[in-house]
Amino acid sequence: MREFPFELALCAHLEATEDWVVGRQIGGGVRAPANRILDVVCVEPGPEMDTRAELTPETVPDAAVESDVGVGRARDPRTAFDCSPEHARAVAERAVEIGFFEREVGGGVRQVARYPDDWFGRIVGIENKPDLDSPGDLLTQLRKDVSIALADEVILATESYVTGAHLNRIPEAVGVWRFDPETGDREVVREAEPLATSGPGVELLEKHPLRTDVAPVSADEKARQRRRMAERAYGKGWRTYDFPACGEIESAEREGSDGLPYCAWKGRVVNPTECGPNCPGHDPADPPDVDVADARDGRTPWVAEPEGKARRQSGLDRFG
Ligand code: SF4
Repeated sequence: MREFPFELALCAHLEATEDWVVGRQIGGGVRAPANRILDVVCVEPGPEMDTRAELTPETVPDAAVESDVGVGRARDPRTAFDCSPEHARAVAERAVEIGFFEREVGGGVRQVARYPDDWFGRIVGIENKPDLDSPGDLLTQLRKDVSIALADEVILATESYVTGAHLNRIPEAVGVWRFDPETGDREVVREAEPLATSGPGVELLEKHPLRTDVAPVSADEKARQRRRMAERAYGKGWRTYDFPACGEIESAEREGSDGLPYCAWKGRVVNPTECGPNCPGHDPADPPDVDVADARDGRTPWVAEPEGKARRQSGLDRFG
């Protein structure tokens, strides 16, 4: 119950205090992407951050970046992608929609501007566990993150007092923050050790009583997944919820970051996915008019409406 408001307060705090792009609930696996979802992913800007921000506020599909479509001659998506023609067409459509590709007369596509490979620097993965007395599968999750080493740093964020016994159980490379979601105080209890992101890793897939299934992950696969994670965090951000249709909900602010779903009836930030007619305080009403893009814009290197580059087009009928 406490995890959601804790997570949003931490995201708001990081947005207010760091120069990072902050995203929530981002896949952190390669062989089994659904097997590991990171609570918070923070992306440090690289030298080409501004170039990336000029492209599009959305997530650029990985297949579009990896394709043979460049800034020069327009290409037929069916031959420029390493996948089925249907998937190539769908990805190209999406890339056109978000302004990463443009469509030429004749139906070919090209990049509107070069994709900047060097737009992000370090990635920090954060696992939230406000109450260390109910750790659940926290240790397994942290071991997975350290073993695959996709993030440069892995952090455990908690509201609990952290004892020496806790620290001994948590993998050594994992940094520990104690964070107060009410005051925004963040204490670094233990610094994280940098992980070897540029080399290969080992993905922990499934734990059985007497063995753990693992899979090797190459350096190239990791580099690709890191870009995916950075792209996902860039496009998605952390205000990923819809406000519920209840008269008690309003948009609240923490440390200057607006857009947190605050319930006046409960007197706290709530998880909108858990709000509904079964709640005793439910008061049917239109959801509040909250512009989350506006709340995000200007708070991080993410830009809501890049100038000049994005030309919205749709339809690739000529190559249908
Ligand atoms: S449904 Fe309940 S928890 Fe959700 S906003 Fe309304 S009163 Fe608050």
